[in-house]
Amino acid sequence: MGPDHERKHNFTAGPGVLPLEVLEGLRDDLLLIVGAGAGILEISHRGEHFEKILAEAEARLRALAGIPEDWEILFLPGGASTQFFQVPLSFLTPGKTADYLVTGHWAAKARDEAAALGSVNTAWDGKASGYDHVPRDDEIRLSESPAYVHYTSNNTIYGTRFSRPPRLDVPLVADKSSDMLAGPLDLEGHVLVYASAQKNLGPAGVTLVLIRKDFLETARDDVPSMLRYRLHAEKESRLNTPPVFAIHALGRVLRWIEEQGGLVAMADRNEKKAALVYAALDARPDFYRGLSRPDSRSLMNVCFRAPSPELDRKLVAEAERRGLIGLSGYRDVGGLRASLYNACPMEACEALAGLLLAFGET
Ligand code: PMP
Repeated sequence: MGPDHERKHNFTAGPGVLPLEVLEGLRDDLLLIVGAGAGILEISHRGEHFEKILAEAEARLRALAGIPEDWEILFLPGGASTQFFQVPLSFLTPGKTADYLVTGHWAAKARDEAAALGSVNTAWDGKASGYDHVPRDDEIRLSESPAYVHYTSNNTIYGTRFSRPPRLDVPLVADKSSDMLAGPLDLEGHVLVYASAQKNLGPAGVTLVLIRKDFLETARDDVPSMLRYRLHAEKESRLNTPPVFAIHALGRVLRWIEEQGGLVAMADRNEKKAALVYAALDARPDFYRGLSRPDSRSLMNVCFRAPSPELDRKLVAEAERRGLIGLSGYRDVGGLRASLYNACPMEACEALAGLLLAFGET
């Protein structure tokens, strides 16, 4: 028997669980990419095999998510944290203001990085209410003619999400790191969307960036070359060695999503999974307290507390005893967090719901 029989139900927030079929495929690819005479870690980033991997990943993503031809698809290094400053460096030019919806820790980081580079307006800030919800469109206070409005579609730490993108009639930039491809991609009103891979898309090391081409044309070019979207978009230039393995793994995850029935099937599954876990929490309102308001609940990260930090710890320990791992909340927030990314199966959610209903009842 291989090591996979020791794999547990993994609820880690990221890097998160990947589909077993994908990992098995990658295990083979480590030894040999068919026809290359070498494994995936050992092939040139300029050779035909990687060209094919890159082209297939892009074509697959375009088809799967319905990304129109007037959008550029980039696979960039540096994580979402690099996008926090690459976006304002490129598009927040002097004399302009960018607006930020501050719905959590990562959204605040994105805002703070932009504020170090230019003029920023906090168009909504949820800090006072413990980031327990996201704003309605009519609560957002935009500046006059913002260069863009940045929002975080899913707040990984507080377990909230926008159930649809804001409709604001201004160019939207979305950090979708923790819900990219969890369901159909709604690009309406957007000019740029980014997501680091290590939750729904693959391993850490690659960040998916989608940019509408007319917006890309407005990017500043007087910045270091690795930060120029336009240079990255000229694919043949291949600015440096891209994260070959991470891009290949992402391609395999895309194929897996396709095999599961695509993004509508993903959304359906994700809704059922989250509903099961929230129902277990809601069944014991005197015991569990959710971090997010019901109208803003995330389908990807279910964040909650037991009645005391001690019971939180006991619950995490009992979960581990039952083979459920990765349930501790973010270090500054505490409590528990169950991340139910695409690759987290229904059986894992059933096991978690069973534990939540039974814990402390006897
Ligand atoms: N945005 C969100 C919503 C995140 O959840 C995270 C990381 N968990 C980040 C940004 C930062 O991503 P990275 O570590 O890839 O820079």
